[in-house]
This record gives sequence, C-alpha cells and structure tokens, in this order.
Amino acid sequence: MGEFDLIDTFFTHRWPARDDVALGVGDDAAVLNVPSDSQLVIATDTMVSGVHFDEQTPARAVGHKIAAVNLSDLAAMGAEPTWLSLALTLPEVDEEWLTSFSHGLREICEYYDCQLIGGDTTKGPLTLTLTAHGLVPRGQVLRRDGAKPGDWVYVSGTLGDAGLALACQQHQQSISDSHYRRVLERLYFPSPRIALGQNLRDVASSAIDLSDGLYSDLGHILKSSQVGARIDVDELPLSLALTESVDADTAINFALTSGDDYELCFTVPESKRGVFDTVMARHPAKPTCIGRITNQPEKLRLEREGEPWQGLDKQHGYDHFG
Ligand SMILES: [Mg+2]
Repeated sequence: MGEFDLIDTFFTHRWPARDDVALGVGDDAAVLNVPSDSQLVIATDTMVSGVHFDEQTPARAVGHKIAAVNLSDLAAMGAEPTWLSLALTLPEVDEEWLTSFSHGLREICEYYDCQLIGGDTTKGPLTLTLTAHGLVPRGQVLRRDGAKPGDWVYVSGTLGDAGLALACQQHQQSISDSHYRRVLERLYFPSPRIALGQNLRDVASSAIDLSDGLYSDLGHILKSSQVGARIDVDELPLSLALTESVDADTAINFALTSGDDYELCFTVPESKRGVFDTVMARHPAKPTCIGRITNQPEKLRLEREGEPWQGLDKQHGYDHFG
C-alpha cells in the first residue's frame, strides 16, 4: 500500500468535514477560512513509541491520545478546536494497527467537530506528530502570565490517576483490578477540558494544562506571571481509585508530580469568583480550589493546615531531558 492509498483508506472516507475548510486533504496544502473576529491558536505535540507509549498501548488509545494532548493545549488557551494535521512515521504498513489508530483519532475529531486537513506519512520508527488549530475570539485567549497575588488557584477533575496507571504498568504499584481499569482509562483516553477552557475566557487570569504534573506545570504559571503560590495538599482533588490504592502521602505525590493528567490549572481573581461560581454551577465536574497566588516570585509553598508540608518526593516526576 502506497502513501496515497494509505491516506485514502484510513484518513479520508467518512471523516468530519467543516464549512470553513476551503481546501482539505489532497492538494499541496490546506486552505482555511479564519473568521476576522477570531485569533488562530496552534499547538503541536509528538508521541514516540517507547517514550510516550509502549507496545501494550492499544492503537485506538494512541489515536485518541495524540489528538487529546493537543486539544488539551488548546483548552488551556480557551480555544475552540477546528483543524488537525498529522505527521505519521511508521515502521511498516500494519493495516490492523492503522484501522484502530485511525478509529481512535476519528472518534475524537467527530466529538469535537475537528477536520483532519492534511499531513504526511514516512517510513521509520513509530512516531506521531499532530498539529491542532483552534479559534478564540480576538483578545480573549488564556495565557500563563496573568496571575496576580491574591488570585485563587483551581484545578479541574482529579489528579494523579494516569500516573498511578503508569506506575502499575511498570510494576511499581499494585492495585485492585477495578481501580486499575479506571486509572488505565485516564492514561489511555484523557479528556481535554475544552468546554471548561472556553468558559474560563472571561474569568481566569491565567491557565495551563497539566501534562507534566501540577508541581511542575503550576511552576510555569508562577514563572511567567512572576508570582508565587500557597497550595493546601489536603485540598488536592483525588479519585477513590488513588486514595484507596496508596497511602495518603503517596497519593499527594502522585497528584503533584505524575504527568498525563490533562486537567486544567488556572487562577481566578477574587473579583471574578462570583461570576465563576455562577458559570461553574452548570458544570458537570466543578473545579477544586487548592490555594492562592502570593507575591513571592516562583515560590511554590506546599501546606497542610497552614504549616509547610515536607512530603514532596521530587524523584517521582518525569522530566523528558532530566
Ligand atoms: Mg500544555
């Protein structure tokens, strides 16, 4: 099967099509109509076999996740996802793998009404690079650099579940089958917080998505905004699967330092909290307030009952170049 047959067979037929795509797959480049009152937001992420996923990862999960991690970046900017382009490097044309992979990718495209507008295929070690495009009303994008002392710090969902799944896969933890199924779902099929990001446009002073763990990712907000934060470790939202599987301090370490959560962390000024609570009353998974921004640049203070919490195990996290 050649490159053109491959695209035709797996990535064209019955995929979502949007009205704002003037020219999609099939020419030298795609042509898109960007509304004049919007700004274009673009994110790229790569997943490498053996680094970001392994052989036991189902192909459908790989297809879902390469889109989800990019859409999570768009969510953190408050953007509405619109178009995706995919660069696929494959060691061989494995039709069974490609069928499941394209199925996983197409499901998420359909759910968020995203159109695959192009890409490239090459032969080599299994690697996926996806670029996601989204739109945000002009001037309303969420950034990392707007947090101010006194703002409240929130996170969505629960933290540390994907990290627990990974630790189980690597035989560092053992947990019950039912909890394992739950956390594995979080690792394989993360949900980008698209609706939440859009609801935060008028409300949040800063936002980031959690890919490397709260401790490290909140650190990016603190650095960009030149502020500090106090976080109460007892307020971290934890799933039953996590709290019933490991001791309390280990659970907190998973929540702070393990990656792959793809939740949003954001800050809300006191003057916007009323609006925020009103908007969030309609939200299925209400975000949790975990602390407050301080005026000490880049100082992240972990607390329990107002006293410093010393239980952080920095070895726990994952640094790509560490
Ligand atoms: Mg990100």
